Amino acid sequence: MCDVGSVIHDQALHDAHFSGDSSKHQLKLCFRPSLVGPATKSHPVCLECLNILQRETSVECANCGFPLCGDRPECLRGRIHARECAQLARLEKRVHLDWESSDNLAYAAVFPLRAMNLREDDPDEMKEVDLLLSGDTKDLRDSFGLEVAAMVITMMGKEGSGVDEEKAIREEVLRIMGLRRTNANAMGCLETKQGNLIFPVYSLINSECYCNTFYSLSEEEENERRKISYRMEVRAQVDIPAGAEITTRYICSFDCLPGRRNKIWQNWRFVCRCVRCSDPTDLGTHFSSLRCRACPTGYLRPSAPASISASASSSDLELLNPLWRCDGCDATVGPRHVTERLLDYERTMKVGFFSSRGDLEEYLSQEVHPNHFLICTLMQKRFFLRDGFDRSDESALEEMVRLGERLLRVVTTIDPGFTQRRGRILKVLAKDRMLLAKLRKERCELDENGFRGELRRAAAECKTMALCFIHS
Ligand SMILES: [Zn+2]
Ligand SMILES: [Zn+2]
Ligand SMILES: [Zn+2]
Ligand SMILES: [Zn+2]
Repeated sequence: MCDVGSVIHDQALHDAHFSGDSSKHQLKLCFRPSLVGPATKSHPVCLECLNILQRETSVECANCGFPLCGDRPECLRGRIHARECAQLARLEKRVHLDWESSDNLAYAAVFPLRAMNLREDDPDEMKEVDLLLSGDTKDLRDSFGLEVAAMVITMMGKEGSGVDEEKAIREEVLRIMGLRRTNANAMGCLETKQGNLIFPVYSLINSECYCNTFYSLSEEEENERRKISYRMEVRAQVDIPAGAEITTRYICSFDCLPGRRNKIWQNWRFVCRCVRCSDPTDLGTHFSSLRCRACPTGYLRPSAPASISASASSSDLELLNPLWRCDGCDATVGPRHVTERLLDYERTMKVGFFSSRGDLEEYLSQEVHPNHFLICTLMQKRFFLRDGFDRSDESALEEMVRLGERLLRVVTTIDPGFTQRRGRILKVLAKDRMLLAKLRKERCELDENGFRGELRRAAAECKTMALCFIHS
């Protein structure tokens, strides 16, 4: 466990600061990345701004051959590219870009190269990055890790520098690759871009699926130096009592067991013991529960070890592979039964075996709890995509309002507070509620009082929605 507040006060790393209204326990932490670079699997991106490029609108750097934004002259003259261009040029003709895919190995080598450069340009900053864990990197030796390391050695001009020096660089590149895999944030929310960022202090915040903060990323241009930078804001999504640990999440909260727990284990080698993972019913929502096949009404959910997960005696392996027990007939099934069933459902959802989303939802509701992650995923699609929706159809509107309210109940239970997902649902729900009220008033099904009541409710939903979006 670490106390982020004190880490930041003690070291004053980056521009991180702690600000807040102590009466409301509000919190805002700001971070700047120490390292920014293309993702391991990357489409061709501009190495200055990391925008995903189209062949037609990009220009090839005459020196290194890498493409840059054609419509942004500042990218061609950019500081980041200026630092790397001669190094990239050492790869010569070994770079073959595939414009249609993310299989572009040369890009995987740029991030570790930037770490090497940072050690030279700003050793103090790199020291902070070095504090992070790189996890197990054995698998990288068997896959493309050695190839990436060879490219970095070439780019650094260290080819033929001797067995020992090459070996040292190789080990360092593998470590950086592991460190990136374990700690980097993706640029997913910056839509035109693809890349990874490392925020060393943010990486010290512990992860829980049921966490009390969310983060947002934004881009800022530092004009005088023509350098693009990024900023992360971590904000409280619920009131955090003074002294309580600040937590973040490394994975999306909208996921079920065992997937959620397995993803965390595979990537970060710990078993999440947050209140949500410790509750076999996902805080009463049954977001992970499957229908029991041994009795007509029971639901299977992870059994004992998960529910007493705070105890030190339940080992990681027990928690990762629990028996699932029916809450009706007490029958148990092994973890494989659950994994196989879930894989089967996912395949069915992908294949498009059912002609409509409604039929698929109908089928799944025979198999899993009505609030299960998979059903909620389909409900979300139905709620937001609205195939063939007629807004003058009163019963269709009523159905949408019910759907929105149901989704909201699940979402605010598994991930409470002012979240973007909640905001997106509220935005549509409030509009539906107003349309429905208007329609029912026109048809004299709602009197003036009832109408006003509905409008007040929609207004309250809009207010909450604004709080969800205020920082994004
Ligand atoms: Zn660019
Ligand atoms: Zn260049
Ligand atoms: Zn958890
Ligand atoms: Zn049963």
